[in-house]
Amino acid sequence: MSPYDLGLPAAPAQANQPLVDPFGRTIDYLRVSVTDRCDLRCVYCMSEHPAFLPKSEILTIEELDRLCTAFIGLGTRRLRLTGGEPLGRRGFMQLVESLSRHLRTGVLDELTLTTNGTRLARFADELAAHGVRRLNVSLDSLDPDRFKHITRGGDLNQVLAGIDAAQAAGIAVKINTVALKNDNADELPAMIQWAHGRGLGITLIETMPLGEVEEDRTDQYLSLAAVRANLESFWTLTPLDERTAGPARYVRVEETGGKLGFITPLSHTFCESCNRVRVTCTGELYMCLGQDDRADLRAPLRENAEDASLIAAIREAITRKPKGHDFKIERRGAAPAVARSMSTTGG
Ligand code: SAM
Ligand code: SF4
Repeated sequence: MSPYDLGLPAAPAQANQPLVDPFGRTIDYLRVSVTDRCDLRCVYCMSEHPAFLPKSEILTIEELDRLCTAFIGLGTRRLRLTGGEPLGRRGFMQLVESLSRHLRTGVLDELTLTTNGTRLARFADELAAHGVRRLNVSLDSLDPDRFKHITRGGDLNQVLAGIDAAQAAGIAVKINTVALKNDNADELPAMIQWAHGRGLGITLIETMPLGEVEEDRTDQYLSLAAVRANLESFWTLTPLDERTAGPARYVRVEETGGKLGFITPLSHTFCESCNRVRVTCTGELYMCLGQDDRADLRAPLRENAEDASLIAAIREAITRKPKGHDFKIERRGAAPAVARSMSTTGG
């Protein structure tokens, strides 16, 4: 046990009724954004000069630990840490180390993260040591110049070194690639081949109308139905039964032997099986990625040393989880369906 573990509460297994929303969905998957900051500026995610939040508004590492632990006490079985860039948050490895106590006691099935990979080479061994078994790395191009353009300055080699380090540490890596009409549409088959050749899963994501960015989203938007039709003109895609409760649908590419996912929030709904909620780095609980309704968890965290009001606020919010989202890129044009970006809500 590390010194950081000492004195921190274990999640009381079975101490609370699980979280079930009005539509009978058990909420057992939590995504937490640990920062709104990032070392990259992906064109579809952030503006070039984003206004980051004052530090005082961001939950501390201790508050994040308490919040996640409260959810775990309410039945959260899978926890994904994201951002902004989680590996850029000061104290992040302390948080991972601390939360790993819930893996050891068996109340948490999985602790994972979504990262841009730029700092992964440095942290991969530590993440593995703290029980991280798989993670997602976002990567939209294998061409150094394009990567630099999409991320507004990123260094592809850092990400590739990060992926190598994670694999060497025994962590399963899944690549997330946002399909962009102008920037990587022609490269997607090569990226799939590359990922499968390295034993990596890869999931393609449609751009979602979240947050203000400089570019016109209707320019960026590329339907994955069209991408899939193109892939099927030269590959055999066999649908896999495997369904997560999330928005991804999977196929096996027979020619490469690898797994390919499609996340199509705009053209399909996936809400009926939704088991997840998200908390922003400021402690706002969003019951749906595509809706604005939310609950403030920072006030009960900061105002009370005991968790009773925090737990009451979580339970009350779950009674407001909506049946589904309301993304409609064509109805709203280039304006975001919801004003907060993915880097705030946590992708
Ligand atoms: N910085 C980390 C990363 O890039 O993996 C974690 C946070 S990032 C917001 C999480 C995921 O959201 C990334 O895979 C990113 O590509 C995706 N994302 C961000 N903005 C998006 C948007 N408008 N539409 C679709 N995906 C988006
Ligand atoms: Fe940063 Fe991730 Fe957003 Fe890119 S997608 S700007 S890496 S938070």
